[in-house]
Amino acid sequence: KKTLRLILGDQLNYKHSWYNGDQDHIIYHMAEMRQETDYVKHHIQKVVGFFQAMREFSSWLEDRGMQVEYFRFRESENKHNLVDNLNHIIDKHGIEKFEYLAPDEYRLDQQLRDFCKSLDIEWEGYDTEHFFTKRKDVEKFFEGKKRMTMEYFYRDMRKKHDIMIVGDKEPEGGKWNYDKSNRNKWDGDTEIPKEKGFRKDVSDIVEMLKEEDVSTFGRIDSSNFNWPTSRADALKVLNYFCDELLVHFGDYQDAMHTNQEYLYHSRLSFALNSKMLHPKEVIEKVVDKWREDKRKIDISQVEGFVRQILGWREFMRGIYWKEMPSYARSNKLDNQNDLPDFYWTGETDMNCLKHSINNSLDNAYAHHIQRLMITGNYALLTQTHPDQVCDWYLGVYIDAIEWVEITNTRGMSQWADGGIVATKPYVSSGSYINKMSNYCKGCKYKVSKKNAEEDACPFNSLYWNFLDDKQEFFKNNQRMNMMLGTLNKMDKEKLERHKQRAQDVMKNPSQY
Ligand code: FAD
Ligand code: SF4
Repeated sequence: KKTLRLILGDQLNYKHSWYNGDQDHIIYHMAEMRQETDYVKHHIQKVVGFFQAMREFSSWLEDRGMQVEYFRFRESENKHNLVDNLNHIIDKHGIEKFEYLAPDEYRLDQQLRDFCKSLDIEWEGYDTEHFFTKRKDVEKFFEGKKRMTMEYFYRDMRKKHDIMIVGDKEPEGGKWNYDKSNRNKWDGDTEIPKEKGFRKDVSDIVEMLKEEDVSTFGRIDSSNFNWPTSRADALKVLNYFCDELLVHFGDYQDAMHTNQEYLYHSRLSFALNSKMLHPKEVIEKVVDKWREDKRKIDISQVEGFVRQILGWREFMRGIYWKEMPSYARSNKLDNQNDLPDFYWTGETDMNCLKHSINNSLDNAYAHHIQRLMITGNYALLTQTHPDQVCDWYLGVYIDAIEWVEITNTRGMSQWADGGIVATKPYVSSGSYINKMSNYCKGCKYKVSKKNAEEDACPFNSLYWNFLDDKQEFFKNNQRMNMMLGTLNKMDKEKLERHKQRAQDVMKNPSQY
């Protein structure tokens, strides 16, 4: 039967079984569409990264003799809408069967479901063969449980997939979790090998987007594009991580530094989320590296990394498919403020925010603690509407695809889901930021001033104001007892000063 197979931009799985079987009568379809560039405002590097990676994937298919209908952005046949493009190709080639890979986004899943219903030819959906779990596995795992604790899911995954497991299903090294040893500030002395990167010229795509008036933000050096856009590139990033960075991954996982945008983080999220790399091969490679080099690499570095991919990444996906679509509207704390303009420009005197936002605008990347404890923390403390927070996170990072962006942003970072992902909100005063970074040293504000003085760190007042405003939501939460206890013991006048200053910060964010 003449068959049309759809490949979406985040389905670049070079190892998928589709490409092994008989390819006669099969046409593959990929398209650079307005539908995808315009559903949210994206960082320029994100659009370029996906288009470049799609082009290289389609060339790979063609080099292997497969027939591909690839619609570039300016291709005259391109209708810029998935359904219209598919209908067009079905007519053009007299297609008798339509096949697709299950999308990871609810939005596209709905669109394809509706499309298939409208078809009068045969159709079939396939697995992307990427994740360890199926959409509903997390939901099933926690059936009947009060809380969905990631840790239990992660342990089960370790056992199920026999990853760092010994004897009678025991964790290798004796412990499941080495998180406690993952909390160092970067000392500035330990040398971080220079990242080799790629130097791709993507000016043609950048020019084209400009000419076509595609609205983007952020910065790009178009002759030195630095993200992996093919499987060979992605493997280089993985090897580089194993050879040079794994050794200190856990040690500095939570650290932040003005001179270091990546520290020991892997930068693998784009290659993973676009499916150029499989999470299993990433984990296997990292664990193998550790086995070869156990004298140099401590188990805590490896366990911390495996936990992120086997645990958090799969867990977040499961939460997404359990909770959507209502998750996308959740706003448990009823936060209503606007996201400050400086998220789009980086122009603020608060040094931690300035660095984290400018890193994001320069590289379409910030590491986890910058996302969670700087930009996320500030947005939550200033009681920003989660829709606006999500629009920013979904646009700014090259790895941002809704299933993993929304669960991290609304769930882990903004507590908008009321505690499904995080047992307590990730908020802190300036002290935590000072403990984990060197940002405060170069800041106009004084992190040590804690009485709402004019030059005191704004996070300090925002923190107490947030706890006071929102304490109703947390009064039965044991993990918040200590914070709320301190709040309630605070001198009333002092609290009032904090609240006034916090109001001022929230009303005039651009003044800070
Ligand atoms: P590393 O620190 O080297 O970690 C290795 C890998 O583990 C990552 O590549 C990623 O695949 C996985 N991982 C680590 N933490 C998480 C997590 N919390 N959830 C899921 N996977 C994880 N990650 C995205 O992939 N896309 C997003 O849109 C995204 N948005 C986020 C928004 C907020 C507010 C927060 C707090 C986190 C977000 N994360 C997101 C999770 C995490 O910050 C990124 O995966 C990570 O920073 C990517 O950089 P890396 O590849 O260098 O990661
Ligand atoms: Fe950020 Fe406050 Fe430190 Fe300045 S003093 S860098 S605003 S935490």
